[in-house]
Amino acid sequence: MSAPPPVAVYVHIPFCVRVCGYCDFNTYAGMDALKGAYTAAVVAEIESWAPDIAGRSVTSIAFGGGTPGEMPPDSLVAVIEAVRAAAPLAPDAEVSLEANPGTTSLADLRALAGAGVNRISFGAQSFDAGELAFLDRVHTPEATAASLHLAREAGIPGVNLDLMYGLPGQSPAAWQATLDHALTLAPDHLSLYALTVEPGTPLDGRVERGEVTPLDPDAVAAMYESTATRLEAAGYRHYELSNWARPGHESRHNRVYWTWGDYLGIGAGAHGFLDGHRFENVANPRAYIDAVRRDGRAIAEAVRPDPATSMSDWLALRLRLIEGFDAAEFAECFGEPLEAVAGPPLDACRDAGLLEKSGGRLRLTARGRLLHNEVAVRVMLHLRERAEESAPSPRGGASGVA
Ligand code: SF4
Repeated sequence: MSAPPPVAVYVHIPFCVRVCGYCDFNTYAGMDALKGAYTAAVVAEIESWAPDIAGRSVTSIAFGGGTPGEMPPDSLVAVIEAVRAAAPLAPDAEVSLEANPGTTSLADLRALAGAGVNRISFGAQSFDAGELAFLDRVHTPEATAASLHLAREAGIPGVNLDLMYGLPGQSPAAWQATLDHALTLAPDHLSLYALTVEPGTPLDGRVERGEVTPLDPDAVAAMYESTATRLEAAGYRHYELSNWARPGHESRHNRVYWTWGDYLGIGAGAHGFLDGHRFENVANPRAYIDAVRRDGRAIAEAVRPDPATSMSDWLALRLRLIEGFDAAEFAECFGEPLEAVAGPPLDACRDAGLLEKSGGRLRLTARGRLLHNEVAVRVMLHLRERAEESAPSPRGGASGVA
């Protein structure tokens, strides 16, 4: 009998010092008084999942948010211990934490490293003070450098910086300056995201009122392309659409998402995927705490996606990886050949220069990386149509009159 598959654990920490104007994550400011009760609820929720992951090993724990670095280290350590008690942590497990630059002391970082945290991700976003102010960030460029050095001093072996490009009014030279500044710090990993204007955010309101003009999409695309070239030359491997790493520093936790692995989603608004079911927790932290106290869990929605949804999700996620995938992996997962399931849209994307076959693997071309969403939508629409065509037609005559 084969061993049960491993599982990853995502823990959502929904607290921030203040909410940035562009952010649409499930995050809240001014709720610090809830942190103790929230930690207790997270621990209780992990305990409730223990029977579901019995016999599996945990390959990663990722604290995301929100700002996990704003939590007392003792709380994070208690959560890590709860996971260890629920299922064994793999010897090479990745334990990662997101933090704001300038908010974690050396003592805190040492305590976290001692509890097993081996990767930290700082939300640097920019090394330009004006851009940080525009983004409502509470830290300075200097704080990012100081935090990175403290993390290294504390013995945390993997440090990531998150950066944002494509800001309103940002010139190519300004973005290049931020990138160059980041490279002088030699982070192990870089996650780079184009600023998007999410509906309902304060930034969206500013755009609506004409106070802010988003950067031209072609200019944003040019920044992405020049960045990829620059980082490859600096020794970083482009392994996922938005992620670059020095050898051996790729995010193992995120790879679970991209490769259709199982993960628990713990905490307010967290999403999980276990044994073919998708789970989503209650989003509001107070409601989450109340639900866990009452029921042990706080699931707002649990669904088993239909095959067409699962296949299109699988393909969209796999195509995020620069290495692409082998068609045999798809067939093994779904029991149907890729060509029979999604041949027409994939062929059309190849003809349009968005996909290529390389070493037996299907992957996005350099141009396709800019248009991943378009490829994913084409595949999804085809799979939906295919599912509708093969659905049994309703029984009975057209009139329905008995
Ligand atoms: S710090 Fe991060 S999670 Fe918190 S509001 Fe800002 S962007 Fe959102």
